Amino acid sequence: MNNDHLLNVYNRSPITITKGKGVYLYDNTDKQYLDFASGIATTGLGHCHPYLIDSLNKQSQLLWHCSNLVSNFEQQKLASRLSTLTFADKVFFCSSGLETTETAIKIIRRYHYVNGEKARNTIITINGGFHGRSMAAISAGGNDYVREGYAPLLGGFKSIPKNDFVALKKAVDHNTAGIFLELIQSEGGVYALDIDYLHHIREFTKEQGIILAFDEVQTGYGRICDFFYHQQIGIEPDILTCAKAMGNGFPVAACLTKEFIADTMKPGTHGSTYGGNPLAMAVGNAVLDIITKPDFFNQVRSVSKYLHESLQTIQTQFPNLVKEIRGKGLLIGIEFHPQLSLSEIINLFYKNGLIVSKTANKNTIRLLPPLIIQKNHVDQFIDIFSSALNAQS
Ligand SMILES: *Cc1c(COP(=O)(O)O)cnc(C)c1O
Repeated sequence: MNNDHLLNVYNRSPITITKGKGVYLYDNTDKQYLDFASGIATTGLGHCHPYLIDSLNKQSQLLWHCSNLVSNFEQQKLASRLSTLTFADKVFFCSSGLETTETAIKIIRRYHYVNGEKARNTIITINGGFHGRSMAAISAGGNDYVREGYAPLLGGFKSIPKNDFVALKKAVDHNTAGIFLELIQSEGGVYALDIDYLHHIREFTKEQGIILAFDEVQTGYGRICDFFYHQQIGIEPDILTCAKAMGNGFPVAACLTKEFIADTMKPGTHGSTYGGNPLAMAVGNAVLDIITKPDFFNQVRSVSKYLHESLQTIQTQFPNLVKEIRGKGLLIGIEFHPQLSLSEIINLFYKNGLIVSKTANKNTIRLLPPLIIQKNHVDQFIDIFSSALNAQS
């Protein structure tokens, strides 16, 4: 078997993964890989978590799908838990990150429309942000390569340089409906936005009646050592998008918002066939059961600190190869000097049993280990990483 009949839109490694357990993946020859990509920030609780398997199995015997023509308890339960755990009053469920982007954009525009400000429909986004691959999502964000060949893009978006509050104020006019941004740009190369800048945006958008939406598809669900990163920095959005780790690999996503905004969405104005599907909701609730255990985030914090410290040591050992280490929590970008070949080092990682993720930035790899890693997994990672760097120097 091979990839010949798959649309060739991914730079796939020839490695074929057949199973996973905890923080490890296994290929068809039973070779073990330390998974420091988590299926792109998705399998935060590791592979084949027994409690998640059990929850999915139980639900699979009861009910798979019933649509939103009727109510279901798992959906009510997950929505009410999310609202207790966050700023939000209302939740819309869907199945992927890009759908949460679409939902956020539609809610922002409809809010102003219903309030009689029909011309107020422009959404400001930040250069280098990434919000998914639909036409609206690539119009809203992404590097040039995600847009090339897809003209005409959708109108109504204005993209500005990051961390430049003056540019933001200049971009705002009477048509500005909302600002939509990633707090830490992940795909774009792992750049955290300045916290002061984000506070300024929050104050300013409140003053101006502009809706502020955060894309925490990647930074949510413990990746930055708290449930959501905005809770850690104390800045509350009006709309929040969330996906990747919500279902630990089962497709679940959500767009969360406040009542005063949600009130403008009425039956028929939006929807999704699979959204809130009982299987997805059962897994979503099971994931929450695990990560809301009292000590969960403390453990993530402690292993993340250990990983950052270990990386600092590596950087001092290989100053000619490692240019910069960026990111927070378990979302880490490692930028190399241009003389290092990224594809060579990634191949060495594969050879030595390690999987990491790339970014849109040519010289930067991204570490997205499962939230459940322990110090010994960090040590194993550092061993493989330093021997690959040794081979390059
Ligand atoms: C992955 C991602 C998306 C898109 O999610 P999909 O499920 O791939 O559609 C949107 N925003 C951010 C920040 C992401 O990392």
